[in-house]
Amino acid sequence: MSNKKKALVLGAGGFIGSHLVKRLKREGYWVRGVDLKYPEFAPTETNDFLVGDLRDPNICRHAMNQPFDEVYQLAADMGGAGYVFTGENDADIMHNSALINLNILEECRSKKNVTKVFYSSSACIYPEYNQINPDNPKTSEDSAYPALPDSEYGWEKLFSERLYLAFHRNHGLNVCIARFHNIFGPEGAWDDGREKSPAAFCRKVAETPDGGEIEMWGDGKQTRSFLYINECLEGVRRLMKSDFIGPINIGSEEMITINQLAEMIMDIAGKKLTINHIAGPLGVRGRKSDNALIKEKLGWVPQFSMYEGLKQVYFWIEEQISLKTKINP
Ligand code: NAD
Repeated sequence: MSNKKKALVLGAGGFIGSHLVKRLKREGYWVRGVDLKYPEFAPTETNDFLVGDLRDPNICRHAMNQPFDEVYQLAADMGGAGYVFTGENDADIMHNSALINLNILEECRSKKNVTKVFYSSSACIYPEYNQINPDNPKTSEDSAYPALPDSEYGWEKLFSERLYLAFHRNHGLNVCIARFHNIFGPEGAWDDGREKSPAAFCRKVAETPDGGEIEMWGDGKQTRSFLYINECLEGVRRLMKSDFIGPINIGSEEMITINQLAEMIMDIAGKKLTINHIAGPLGVRGRKSDNALIKEKLGWVPQFSMYEGLKQVYFWIEEQISLKTKINP
């Protein structure tokens, strides 16, 4: 263990964190994970897992009681549109996530035992006024200001980006920041109210008999891009190995409408369903990643197609549904 690089993954019980742990372990790291909970869908592969609340400075102190080569800060109070865009969770989202970031940075500053920190920001920081036309949204990294995110989740992410950059400038902390754009894959939230649209539609399609009807929030003409988890992790690892601080987009440029997303899933499932458009929380009208900067700085852009990724998620969710039905017939 002594020669192994050490990584600390905060949010290791979550979707991206638990996949990142697996990736780091494959690369030969010794990994400590911290989260409020263990990963839900597979046993953790960490060497050491601390169940604790990172809003508590004592937990952060304990989590960072030894030197780490790399810290990945993924812990946040977050979810899909049903959690982030209703307005009902705004105070929690801002308070909880900001506290985690404040505590972690203070611990890095005072202990001086961390070589580099990764912070996971979000495409939700981009101003609403650049995402009104669904066919031509703007998300180049330099378009973040003048700031006008459409959610408090986005405002907290923007504040925390600036916090990490301030600790870099004032305390010499080595940081890098990525703005994730809709990451999806197996072993993520799918039915707990925090799921994102790919998982939500996979669940609805899997649960509905052929010829039936599924509900969709809005007219389905809003656009998005989605990035498969393995590609996200590849981008994170490349960014950590580079000397580019960011913020940088990690997302896909393959833009589709939400109607097309549902159609793709029906195609994978071999079902023809009717879509019933209903009112609901929506987010911006159009969004996709702009990958010019990542191509320039890291010489890499993601390639894996949305359709291939959706197949993985659909069949995983189908399996989850049948497991649940066996337990609660
Ligand atoms: P997730 O909700 O699955 O994981 C976040 C984890 O943080 C959860 O396991 C949660 O229990 C943990 N957590 C929350 N509050 C905590 C606390 N007080 N103490 C300890 N742990 C706490 O989300 P994810 O999809 O894996 O996202 C990881 C990071 O990436 C988050 O910061 C998120 O904002 C960011 N991000 C994700 C996406 C995406 O599409 N998944 C897009 C943009 C940004």
